[in-house]
Amino acid sequence: MTILIAGGGLSGLSLVAHLVTRPESLGPIVVVDDGRRQLATAGWASWSAEPGLLDEAVSRTFDRFHVHAAGRSRIVGLGRYKYRFVRGDDLAAAAGKAAERRGGVVFHRGRITEIRQAGRGAEALVDGEPLRADWVFDSVLGPGPARVDGWLVFRGWHVRTAAPAFDSAVPTFFDFRTPQGRAASFVYVLPRGPQEALVEHTSFAPPRTRGMAYPKEQRSALREYLSTILGVREYAVTREESASLPLSASAVDRRRGSILAIGTKAGLVKASTGYAFQRIQADSAAIARSLAVHGHPFELPKPKARHLLFDSTLLDVVARDPAQLERVFAALFDRSSAEPVLRFLDEESSLPQEGRMFARLPPSLYSAVTRRHR
Ligand SMILES: Cc1cc2nc3c(=O)[nH]c(=O)nc-3n(C[C@H](O)[C@H](O)[C@H](O)COP(=O)(O)OP(=O)(O)OC[C@H]3O[C@@H](n4cnc5c(N)ncnc54)[C@H](O)[C@@H]3O)c2cc1C
Repeated sequence: MTILIAGGGLSGLSLVAHLVTRPESLGPIVVVDDGRRQLATAGWASWSAEPGLLDEAVSRTFDRFHVHAAGRSRIVGLGRYKYRFVRGDDLAAAAGKAAERRGGVVFHRGRITEIRQAGRGAEALVDGEPLRADWVFDSVLGPGPARVDGWLVFRGWHVRTAAPAFDSAVPTFFDFRTPQGRAASFVYVLPRGPQEALVEHTSFAPPRTRGMAYPKEQRSALREYLSTILGVREYAVTREESASLPLSASAVDRRRGSILAIGTKAGLVKASTGYAFQRIQADSAAIARSLAVHGHPFELPKPKARHLLFDSTLLDVVARDPAQLERVFAALFDRSSAEPVLRFLDEESSLPQEGRMFARLPPSLYSAVTRRHR
């Protein structure tokens, strides 16, 4: 069988790594990317309880978070989980190495303008030329979620300070000490060392905003956070990154004939967190297994309805009353270990565990979830 992967970003490279490490040979693979998203400046943080296939690409590992919500600061341990950071370059190197060991993988630079069914297989138009394969995995043009339930709007500064300012061992998962006027917002800090960190302003914005950024206010909030909360006097911003990620709690219809959407286009960004890294790893492993066992890539786990319900309710409640986000996060993380919350966000919790978790939530959210459930 022949495989074409449209897009060599997180989901494309992860799929390559999972396909080539299967014991069975799954046939030649072509990965097409036009380089519009530079891997050198990309990076993904995520948590997981188990070792992963791409662990060699991990450059930073943490076992606790700092959180601040509802006037309270605490350090929470992660229990069985580790919080890890993977740089884009390191991911490409790890996937490239795995591909080289197996052979039969070609990385092709080109712009894809169309992906369509062609006979029993499918084809992509790459710089105007059709490229055919039995299966096409699409992270560039795919359908994406039909409905947007909210936006994660963020702006991050890579900062270097003149004096030590960061705890290199403890990222700040969220700190709500930032203006809440535009949308429910917090600051996230991912340290690289005592004098280097990514400091990111993050907002959960309602669908009606269409993810519109507000750079002036975001930058002013970042300046204020650095000076007032972190007490940093002298610093340089070495790079700024910003994005608006659509959040959707509806399942995506991923399949079109021999074409399967992957990554963001497959709806793999978790709507209540904006994280996708581990979901993409699990999905890549499932696709590779399905191809090897069934000869097609469609035997995949279905999204769980009750988790989609929680995500859509949270976004809905926060869109109506932004202050609820801080209350929910404060309630969820008011414990010494974040393990139960991370298990819940990974959609691996049992019903009784979720019952105990929901009992801690603000009554407005708890009743909204139960109302919708009925
Ligand atoms: C700035 C940012 C930071 C994020 N941080 C995190 C994080 O820390 N942790 C986390 O879990 N999730 C994070 N996410 C969410 C999610 O994990 C990422 O969006 C992730 O990169 C999605 O993977 P993907 O393969 O769908 O898309 P991408 O990684 O963007 O890959 C798509 C690829 O397709 C290529 N491409 C696009 N159009 C074409 C075309 N027409 N022809 C050819 N090639 C094309 C691009 O160059 C790119 O390489 C972040 C998202 C953003 C936007």
